[in-house]
Amino acid sequence: MASQSALAALDNIRVVLVNSAHPGNIGGAARALKNMGLSQLYLVQPREFPAANAVWRAAGASELLDSAVVVETLEEAVADCGLVVATSARERRIPWPLLTPRECGERAVAEAKTHPVALVFGREDRGLTNDELQACNYHVHIPSNPEYSSLNLATAVQVLVYEARMAALEAEKGEALRFTDWDRPPARAQDMELYYEHLELALAELGFIDPDNPRQTITRLRRLFSRVRPDDMELGILRGMLTAIQNHIHRSGGKGRPD
Ligand code: SAH
Repeated sequence: MASQSALAALDNIRVVLVNSAHPGNIGGAARALKNMGLSQLYLVQPREFPAANAVWRAAGASELLDSAVVVETLEEAVADCGLVVATSARERRIPWPLLTPRECGERAVAEAKTHPVALVFGREDRGLTNDELQACNYHVHIPSNPEYSSLNLATAVQVLVYEARMAALEAEKGEALRFTDWDRPPARAQDMELYYEHLELALAELGFIDPDNPRQTITRLRRLFSRVRPDDMELGILRGMLTAIQNHIHRSGGKGRPD
């Protein structure tokens, strides 16, 4: 599959609930997924499904219950996944590569751009079996109170899908600067250079910079505008402001610098 944007990749992260006993938790999980922009819910032998209680807890997310994939085994649920992460409420006897919830979100989003990823959750009363845990690439534990470490199933789902969304939003930040969804094109490099010349001249006329030694200030202003990346219209406004400042200086009798 071709690489896709980080937020779109959330659709490629599936939440797998193994043998859930309470339909309310399935509904709560569906709601958590939709809130965080995920859509794939897999149910391995749910004890009671479909169920009115699941629909009730899902609130406005019941379409995720309608599209939930119900299978007989964990193996089937994750067959096409390139990364499978198991969740665990406690440390297990056999150590396994561990991720923090944050690392899990980052890794899931990064990998989901190219292949399906699964986050696997266990039974309310006894979690995942050792065989199920060992069918997964990584384990993730939400660092809860060691004296009371087990979260409600739907709450644990909420924490991990939240981390996935945060990771996706973080990854999109870089993409947002690409002007793909912008109403104007970015200012061209040659126009930026003309702007810097104009800025330097106007600031010198204003007496704000020393025309013989403008370096530091201009370099810092260049860095500021490189970071902001104005579009062509914004640059036009900035140029217009400089011209207005210059006109004002000229009308009021010359340079601002008292020398
Ligand atoms: N008594 C069970 C608790 C299961 S809680 C046990 O000790 O395993 C039900 C499910 O919620 C777990 O299988 C896991 O998927 C998730 N969960 C609950 N607390 C968690 C935690 N602190 N970290 C990661 N997952 C957790």
